[in-house]
Amino acid sequence: MREGIHPNYKKVTVSCACGNTFETGSVKKELRIETCSECHPFYTGRQKFAEAGGRVDRFNKKYGIKATN
Ligand SMILES: [Zn+2]
Repeated sequence: MREGIHPNYKKVTVSCACGNTFETGSVKKELRIETCSECHPFYTGRQKFAEAGGRVDRFNKKYGIKATN
């Protein structure tokens, strides 16, 4: 690759909200995500977010939405 014409693609550490971290390639210095392959319900097979409460609960409370489980 020629210098100066390509974005600086390099390895970054991705930090997930669940505490999991892994490396990937990106032009960014670091990545912060809220769902990764370790904690996404599709991969874990369970509803971790529903158990944990938190963000969704607060959102629903704020807008007066009752949780429908
Ligand atoms: Zn995660």
